[in-house]
Amino acid sequence: MWHILGAGSLGTLWATRLARAGLPVQLILRDSTRLHGYQQAGGLTLIEQGQPQHYPIAAQTPDHRQPIQRLLLACKAYDAATAVAQLAHRLVPGADILLLQNGLGSQDEVARAAPQARCIFASSTEGAFRQADFQVVFAGHGHTWIGDPLNMQPPDWLADLHQAGIAHDWSLDILSRLWRKLALNCAINPLTVLQDCRNGQLREHPAQLACLTDELVELLQRCGQSNAAEGLYDDVLRVIQATAMNYSSMHQDASQGRRTEIAYLLGYACQAAQRHQLPLPHLQALHAQLLNHLTARGLPCH
Ligand code: NAP
Repeated sequence: MWHILGAGSLGTLWATRLARAGLPVQLILRDSTRLHGYQQAGGLTLIEQGQPQHYPIAAQTPDHRQPIQRLLLACKAYDAATAVAQLAHRLVPGADILLLQNGLGSQDEVARAAPQARCIFASSTEGAFRQADFQVVFAGHGHTWIGDPLNMQPPDWLADLHQAGIAHDWSLDILSRLWRKLALNCAINPLTVLQDCRNGQLREHPAQLACLTDELVELLQRCGQSNAAEGLYDDVLRVIQATAMNYSSMHQDASQGRRTEIAYLLGYACQAAQRHQLPLPHLQALHAQLLNHLTARGLPCH
């Protein structure tokens, strides 16, 4: 049984593909109000290439008593630890938790909240967004890397992902992937918020991008992540080029008045630098500016 917490963008994308492959799925929704709304909707809708498909997947609230053997955690990084703590008593010893959260920091928080479980991390380039409650658009096909820094042995349920057509690979260095993605995010997303621009417009700020990337490379090396530092500047330019017309996820969140995951991205990077007593003036100034920007808009920064 796949228990999936969070019927947002990624939760829906995973739940619907697993369910249509004939695998047993149970959604865990926030509370009875959300469950009622879900029952009214009659299930999840996934829209692919403009075609909606409806999936009446079973759902429950966190206070349900069913034991959990395998949990897909599909909430935002800032909700992850609280959500898992709520379910900790339902997790059987040796349960697996697959964490879809972007950035770093939430994985450690979840591991502390559920010490009896094996935490398996994911880093995904798939894209999805919510069109309405319980209706999700599959916007970008991509790939998901899955790994466990404490245990190289892949779990047997990777076969389920294969059966469900979820493109993935077992990664022997998932932390390197998460750090690389975090570094790309730190170089691109905060600037798009402060400049209020699409990713492609950052091509007009090459000096700032170069300074930030240099500091991120220093940070990655100091944190023992030299592989993740390799060719970072070229990759930043490549991502900006490939996503030139897009607004970054942080830009979308901030401009729509939604809480961002800053604490698990640029905030995490600045804290790691502080822990290593590494002065990174451009990165720290960017962080301070972003905090001011979000605070001025009444958005939380933790
Ligand atoms: P999302 O659309 O906001 O969905 C998060 C879901 O979690 C919401 O439905 C929310 O419920 C639910 N939730 C939060 N706390 C809960 C709780 N205690 N119990 C039950 N449900 C709870 O977020 P997302 O875009 O799927 O992102 C999830 C993570 O994946 C993020 O870290 C994001 O950065 C990462 N990611 C996303 C994408 C993408 O394309 N969307 C791509 C790569 C990585 P409510 O609806 O009740 O608020």
